[in-house]
Formats: sequence, structure tokens, C-alpha cells
Amino acid sequence: MSLTSDPKDPNLTHGVNDEPVEQAKTYLVDDGTGEFVRPVRHTYVHDKGCGAVTTMGLRLAETYARDPKFYGATYCVGCRMHRPVSEFVWDGTDERVGS
Ligand SMILES: [Zn+2]
Repeated sequence: MSLTSDPKDPNLTHGVNDEPVEQAKTYLVDDGTGEFVRPVRHTYVHDKGCGAVTTMGLRLAETYARDPKFYGATYCVGCRMHRPVSEFVWDGTDERVGS
């Protein structure tokens, strides 16, 4: 898995899945500048889905912390699908991902 800040990177995938898939080869992150407006959180729960807990890497977590609405969908290791961020809460909170 690699990261890019180029939204036109041809290895990026978009949207949600209805069938299990592997994680994308490449994920988009922000440019790494600017203030955090949320805590840097690595772990979310698919509370409106399978209930699995997924942990992501630092640059993805930092992107969420700087720009909470950056992603419309995120990967669930339980479903093995990208699902809308609104189906997830940050682990240990009732705070919805993407809010
Ligand atoms: Zn799930």
C-alpha cells in the first residue's frame, strides 16, 4: 500500500464497494500542511455494519485530523469493502467518522 497527495494518481480507487475487495494499492492523503482540527485517531469501528475495528496508518489518520471530510469512504477489514464514512465511529467514542 502506498500513499499519494496527487488526486489524479491512476492507482487510486473511488467510492464504495458492494463486494469484498483487497485494499487499494494507493490511498490519497492531504499535502501534510495545516492545523489539526480533530485528534489524530487511528482506529474506527464499523458500528453501522459488521462491528469490526480497523486501524490505519499515521498519514491517513493525520489527514482525517486536519480535514475530517477529506474522505467519503473508508476501508473496513471485517467487510473487506470501502464503505461510507458515515457507517463508522472513532473507536471508544460516539463521534462519527467524517464529522
Ligand atoms: Zn465492516
